[in-house]
This record gives sequence, C-alpha cells and structure tokens, in this order.
Amino acid sequence: MKKILFLAIAAIAMSAFAGRPKYVFLFIGDGMSVPQRMTAEEFSRKSGAGSLAMNTMPFSAMTRTCSADSLVTDSAAAATAIACGTKTKNHYSGVDPEGKPVYSSAAAAKKAGVKVGILTTVTITHATPAGFYAHRNNRGDAYGISIDLANSGFDFFAGGGLDVNPKNSKNHKQYAECGDAYEYVRSKGYNIVETKDQFLALKPGDGKVFTKFTNGALESTIDADGTQPTIAEMVAKAVEMLDGDSGFFIMAEGGRIDWAGHSNDAATNLRDVLALDEAIKVALQFQDKHPDDTLVVVTGDHETGGMSMGFAGTGYALYMDRLVNQTMSVGKFEDKVAAAFKANPALSFGDVKPIITEAFGFKFEGDAKKDGMVLTKAELKGIVAAFDHDVDFHKSKIEENSKYDGEKRYLLGGECRVVMSHKCGIGWSSGAHTAMPVLTTAKGRCAEQFSGFIENTDISRIMKAFYE
Ligand SMILES: [Zn+2]
Repeated sequence: MKKILFLAIAAIAMSAFAGRPKYVFLFIGDGMSVPQRMTAEEFSRKSGAGSLAMNTMPFSAMTRTCSADSLVTDSAAAATAIACGTKTKNHYSGVDPEGKPVYSSAAAAKKAGVKVGILTTVTITHATPAGFYAHRNNRGDAYGISIDLANSGFDFFAGGGLDVNPKNSKNHKQYAECGDAYEYVRSKGYNIVETKDQFLALKPGDGKVFTKFTNGALESTIDADGTQPTIAEMVAKAVEMLDGDSGFFIMAEGGRIDWAGHSNDAATNLRDVLALDEAIKVALQFQDKHPDDTLVVVTGDHETGGMSMGFAGTGYALYMDRLVNQTMSVGKFEDKVAAAFKANPALSFGDVKPIITEAFGFKFEGDAKKDGMVLTKAELKGIVAAFDHDVDFHKSKIEENSKYDGEKRYLLGGECRVVMSHKCGIGWSSGAHTAMPVLTTAKGRCAEQFSGFIENTDISRIMKAFYE
C-alpha cells in the first residue's frame, strides 16, 4: 500500500514537470558575444585549463539582439527581450515600446510555484536583472526598480546593492509611500545579508534572501580581494537555498564583462568571462545529478567593444599568454595613478613606471624583439605623451568628466590598455555596444530548442512555455 502511494505521489510530481525542466539555469554574460567567449577560450587553452564549459554544451543558436528602436541594443531592451519576449526601446526595462508592463519567464515561474533566484555581479537594479522583475521606462530609475524588486516576491536576490542615492530617492514620486529602499525590501520579508560570511552561512529555510555587500557593483574578478562572494559561490548558494520539490529558475549575470568591454580592457574582460564559466560549472555539476530535470542555458545580451582576435600590428600572430601579466583592471590602475598624483603633485614619469609595470607587466629595459613585454620605442612614446597630457590635466584641476568621455580625462590608463591589447593581438572597434549577434548554448532538458538562428525574444518564448 505504502509503495502504491509512493508511486502515485511520484507520478503526480513527475507530471507537474512533464516535458519541461524542473530546474532552469539561465546565464547571461553582459556584453558577451563570440569574441569575448573565444578570447577567454583561447586564454584558457593557452594556460592549460582547456575549453570553457559554456563552449562545450551540445546545442547552440546564433542569436540576434536588436531592440525595437535600434540594431544596437542596450542592456535594458536586451534583458526585456530575453526575459519577457518583447522587443522594446533602448532604456526600457520590463515594459513594451508603449510603456506597458510585460512579464518575464522568472515571473511565470514564480506564478507556477517555482522558486526564483536573480543573481548578478553588478548592482541588482542594473538593466539585466531588472528586466526579470521591474517595469520602468527608465533603466536609471534605481529607486523605482528597487520597489519593483521588493514587490516581485522572488525568493533570492544576490549581487551588488540597489544603487539608490538617498538624496535623489526623496524626490521620487513613490518615496512618500515606500520610504527608504532597503527598508522597503526588508518590509517585504527579505532577510538582508551584508557580509560574505553571513551569506555562506545561509541555510535552506532561512526565508527570502537579499544581499547588500555594497550599495554598488561587486569588484571585477581581476581586482577581487575575496571579501565578496564570486558568482560561482552565489550560484552554489542559490542552488542550496532553492532546491526542493517545486524546482527553481535561476538567472545569473556576469555584469562586469560589459564594463570591461566598454573600457576595451581585455584581461579584465576575459577574467570575468572565466568567473562566469566557473558559475556555469556549478550548474553543470547540479545537472549531472539531475540529468533529466535540468536545463542550463548560456547567452549574452549583446556584444561590447567590437572586440576581435587579430590586430593589424601583430599580423597572423596572437599572444594570449601576455594577458596574464595584467594584474588589475584599467580602472584600478587609474585610481592608483590618481592617488599618486594626489600624494605628489610633482609626480614624474619615473614615479609611475613601477605602477605601470605592476599593473600591465610592461618592461622599460630590454630587447622588445626578444621579449614581448618590453615596450617598443613607439609604445613608450605614446605612453610618455599620455602621461605628459595627464600632468597638464592634473594642473588644470578640471574635474574628470566620465569614463567613456574622450575629453577632459586622464589618458595614461587608456594608452596602456591600447598597448596591452596590441601586444596580444586584440582589436577593438568601439567603446560602446555593437549589433553583432551573440551565441546561446544549452544543455539538458529542452536544450535542443536552442539551436539554429534565433531572436533574443525566443529565449523567453521557450522558457515561458515551461510554466504555462
Ligand atoms: Zn554596456
């Protein structure tokens, strides 16, 4: 009798997920198209670590990324397409081109009783995660997006903070009703976790989770000091917390791949791709234990930087191994140089040489023909000219404009970054996004649906069908 009852329950449980995966992982590399995946792949092979897990999945689909108003999408429109299945205007999050709310595969999963986790390495209100739970026609509305996050009812949010500015928040039309964004999240039943130790100590049954390791983004992998969890650690914790009879839907984003693409910083870019790949391995290990019930999908939202392997200066050669010499992001290098200027307004080129060597591994002595890390005369000339510009700029005391603004900024970091890319044979055509398609790869239950040439909206269409 007991056995019959058990079989009956098992049959009901199976029918609830009949033909569809009980466990869904969707990984999104922001700004990760074929060049980013393959640069990391070749770096990984060169270092002896072999192929990336994301590049060894059995099904793949070339994926078109355009938004409703441009062939070159931004992350908000791309996330809305991937999550909700609707092409919308750039800057719109979870709303159609008319501004009407559209709903995501994650929301459909939640409605069907499935546990939902949303993870990222940048701010949790950033465009990609927001596409899964927010409904705003301005991706920059971090306060409004925070309110939508709290109201989503999703089970697990991990990554950077809400990115709310208390000053601006008070002007928001919802502020009188909702108050402080973090307190509002707490009022909706989220257990707010502030340290890595607290996070790793979470146990199933601890309730809904929201992490606040910082108000901003997590560190780039290349700059990380271990005080924040990696994306792989976050995925492992999400699996531990959400695993159960109801199944789960986990979206995990490698958000800083895009940022390193915008700044044409190849070493920082590929290390974040490799970090995302470690997280994908966590999902694939889970899949090994639940092969019939699990789907793992990896995609990108768009390409960033017009990245290529092969550059006019290096001809038919590529020197991926040289990237290992870069020890910090260009952003961190720039911060170091700015701090050195602050400490010593009479900073000389001799003073910054050790910082350049520490950050990029460039050598100022030796034979450039024998050792690729020795600066050629032309490279040195460019770097010295950039430094001279920065000395004048520092004296002018003009505020630095913005990271992507070509004017009114320090040039040394940018010049070193260009030299580094050229030494390796990596080219860049843009400081912004491009319209190149991305690659979607998939493994597991229903993975065969991710093949051929698809639109980014097809990812949502396929996943929503699991929950209808
Ligand atoms: Zn971007």
